[in-house]
Amino acid sequence: MKSLQQKMFGEFASGNLNDKVNQANKEYLKIIHQREVYPTDEAVQKLEVFDEELQNSSISGEEVLNRLIEFGAPATVAQLGGRYFGFVNGNAVPAGLAAKSLATYWDQNSAMHVLSPITSKLETVAERWLKDLFGLPDSTAAGFVSGTSAANLCGLAAGRFRILQRAGWDVNENGLNGSPKIRIVAGKDAHSTVLKAIGILGLGKANIEWVEVDDQGRMIPDALPTLDEMTLLILQAGNVNSGSFDPFNKICQKANKANAWVHIDGAFGLWAQASNELQYLTKGIGLADSWAVDGHKTLNTPYDSGIVLCKDKDALVSALHMTGSYIVVSKERDGMFYTPEMSRRARGIELWATMKFLGKNGIDEMVTGLHHRAKQFATEISEINGFHVPNDVVFNQVLIQCDSDELTAKTMELIQHYRDCWVGGAMWKGKKVIRVSVCSWATTEEDISISVKSFEKALREVQSLESV
Ligand SMILES: *Cc1c(COP(=O)(O)O)cnc(C)c1O
Repeated sequence: MKSLQQKMFGEFASGNLNDKVNQANKEYLKIIHQREVYPTDEAVQKLEVFDEELQNSSISGEEVLNRLIEFGAPATVAQLGGRYFGFVNGNAVPAGLAAKSLATYWDQNSAMHVLSPITSKLETVAERWLKDLFGLPDSTAAGFVSGTSAANLCGLAAGRFRILQRAGWDVNENGLNGSPKIRIVAGKDAHSTVLKAIGILGLGKANIEWVEVDDQGRMIPDALPTLDEMTLLILQAGNVNSGSFDPFNKICQKANKANAWVHIDGAFGLWAQASNELQYLTKGIGLADSWAVDGHKTLNTPYDSGIVLCKDKDALVSALHMTGSYIVVSKERDGMFYTPEMSRRARGIELWATMKFLGKNGIDEMVTGLHHRAKQFATEISEINGFHVPNDVVFNQVLIQCDSDELTAKTMELIQHYRDCWVGGAMWKGKKVIRVSVCSWATTEEDISISVKSFEKALREVQSLESV
């Protein structure tokens, strides 16, 4: 009998598992644009096969993969298609997806240059390209993290470190017990992950000074409290419902005068800066101190890819390392100094590959295209009796309402049941809305029309049931 080790050597050498994965992936991509957007109830039901005790003996790799291919694949959500509009997600550019797959086989640890020179190089290049695309100051450093949740945490940690350090307090050494008080100023529509970060950082959600927002969810500059050098001001590029942008230029100028720290949560919206048509929305972002942005939303890198950018490199590095000072381990980039983790997969590879594939014009075209498809959705749905769009579609988000909350909820349920597209719900200004987020490179004009038809069919069916 073969030993376990012999079996694994054999699986590496034969390449059978790779062939199987390649074949399965090929088939998956072939059908993903036609398949129902959300898995069928039957496919979800069948996930029961995974509910078992771990067996004693090792099985073959092939059996493991068979199970995933047979039961896992049908239960996936078709995010790679063109009609998934739920939450604010994203597709994956083919070259990025393929590069991730390549990097999976390389299985690099991105902690330090000495652990993976290729990862260190591509992170260095990606950092430079991102700074250029977003028009950020030259001193800006980037950390490659799992998403904007982590990036918000890192950016705010850098701000916390610097504000207290300027006040003569080392937060790494002394913590927050007895520290000078940091003021936190945020718009009433700040994203939940910002609040989570504030909680984790020990700053206390109850300490937030909330700023009034307008009918689109934008911070009202005149509603800002007096800012000072103890203030951590949190702005937003891309409201998660309406897609609106805070007026950065005006607010950042005020904040800079007061020497406050400005953090921008730009998970999906920061990419407006890469679009000629839309960069009026991000005017002034370069005046902030830290930024959080996702690759896996608007840029369409595969999951998980988020980036923290910080103008004050020393603050970022100090905040994420308990030494409080910047240690240079090698002359090249050691990625772990810019992230909470030490060991980390090489997500910089697919980020680099996605940007390299698209080029500046390609990124512009893709981001602008999402906006145009969102506008198309808003226009077509508004022409149908019984639907209203309560937000200005400035970016990729469209909010849709029926004549009552009940109608909106029932219509959405039916749309989800049809599976021609997938949309989720939210509350907007106290009323239920269906939220459409156009985030996929694959969304065509036809996809929008098919989805709008599905909306119409759902509403008519709900109305006909109501009138019985
Ligand atoms: C999605 C999102 C986040 C969280 O990002 P993750 O990548 O999911 O961690 C934060 N802020 C905004 C505005 C978002 O849209």
